[in-house]
Amino acid sequence: MRTAVYPGSFDPVTNGHLDIISRGLKLFDRVIVAVLVNREKNTMFTVGERMEMISEATRNMLSERIEITSFDGLLVNYVRERGADAILRGIRAISDFEYEFQMALMNRKLLKQVDTVFMMPDERYSYLSSKLVREVASFGGDVSVFVPGFVEKRLKTKCGGRPDV
Ligand code: ADP
Repeated sequence: MRTAVYPGSFDPVTNGHLDIISRGLKLFDRVIVAVLVNREKNTMFTVGERMEMISEATRNMLSERIEITSFDGLLVNYVRERGADAILRGIRAISDFEYEFQMALMNRKLLKQVDTVFMMPDERYSYLSSKLVREVASFGGDVSVFVPGFVEKRLKTKCGGRPDV
């Protein structure tokens, strides 16, 4: 049984994250989506809300092989605790590479047996980030092609708009 931990802020989950989860499911028997707790101060959605949205968004995606959790502190400690085999990350563009490269090597230094597996999303999502989605939504822009419909509604509610317009 091969297990990967897919860590991130997921504030909120986007179609890019979902693309990486479904690709991860082709390589791993189980994907643990782990929402980072220790950055909560600056997030738009609470950890609970973020987990709930991931859960809803993955409902039709082999969900018995996906686990949605949260973690606090050092990622490698969580990976060790869960007995996972790999860390799953998405690479969108070269700009992601340097940070991801450093982090992957640092994590491997801290936990020798764990490698990071990088996957590239469909090119439609290569410029998509939660941050950009939050920004566009906060100015009333249309984010319907970037996030599931119910996430779009949650964004509208958070940003003070009417939920169903
Ligand atoms: P962001 O806030 O930038 O969306 P997260 O911390 O939620 O990022 O990202 C978690 C992981 O998902 C990271 O490996 C990130 O590179 C990846 N990721 C985020 N958005 C996308 C996307 N559109 N396509 C592929 N991978 C993505």
